[in-house]
Amino acid sequence: MTDWTQHYKRAVTFSYDDGNEQDLRLLEILRQYGLRCTFNLNSGLGGDAGTWEYEGALVRRMVLSERIGCYAGHEIAVHGAKHLNMTELSDAALHEEIVSDRDTLASLCGTVPVGAAYPYGAYDARVMEAMRAAGIRYVRTVNSTHSFAPQEALLAFHPTCHHDDPALETLVEDFLRLEPETPQVLYIWGHSYEFDGHRNWDRFERICERLAGHPDIFYGTNAQVLLRGEM
Ligand SMILES: [Zn+2]
Repeated sequence: MTDWTQHYKRAVTFSYDDGNEQDLRLLEILRQYGLRCTFNLNSGLGGDAGTWEYEGALVRRMVLSERIGCYAGHEIAVHGAKHLNMTELSDAALHEEIVSDRDTLASLCGTVPVGAAYPYGAYDARVMEAMRAAGIRYVRTVNSTHSFAPQEALLAFHPTCHHDDPALETLVEDFLRLEPETPQVLYIWGHSYEFDGHRNWDRFERICERLAGHPDIFYGTNAQVLLRGEM
């Protein structure tokens, strides 16, 4: 693909974790507004493995072998096969957690993942190196920047904000007013089950409606936006 910055100065991208059943509703909203997202998935969990409750909402991972097709048009990325805290693993277990997720996702969707998100946002220099060694080109943290500026250190890429951030609406309006000289990125992350737990799907839909349909904004997956034409 071509480098979006040749034709655009602003890009919007989303990043959602864990592959839960609420992703289906999120996907429908993204489809409706023509937005693109990266889904960070745990291929070693699924169905009842790791089912839990979040603020009254049932959180259940989808069985990816049955449901991988629902993510067509978006990007699939690594989130650890079993969602373990990578900073606590032995070198061998760390390698396995990353590579087995990468390879299972590659076989399910036919494309080798190039991106990832750190489970629990936990990482250190050793974990970053293990990601790089596995061919992962960018990894998302959970540290909000409230900024749209490009970042150089993609193995610890910091998002603009989480979707529940009280500053989100202001950030969206600030982003829409920009007339930047250099490329700027609005990057929103979260978990789709949080919309069930906080009963705020409508707020997210309003955000998507505001962001959608601007002919001078590029709507891409994380890889398309962060790696530009290198994909
Ligand atoms: Zn997660």
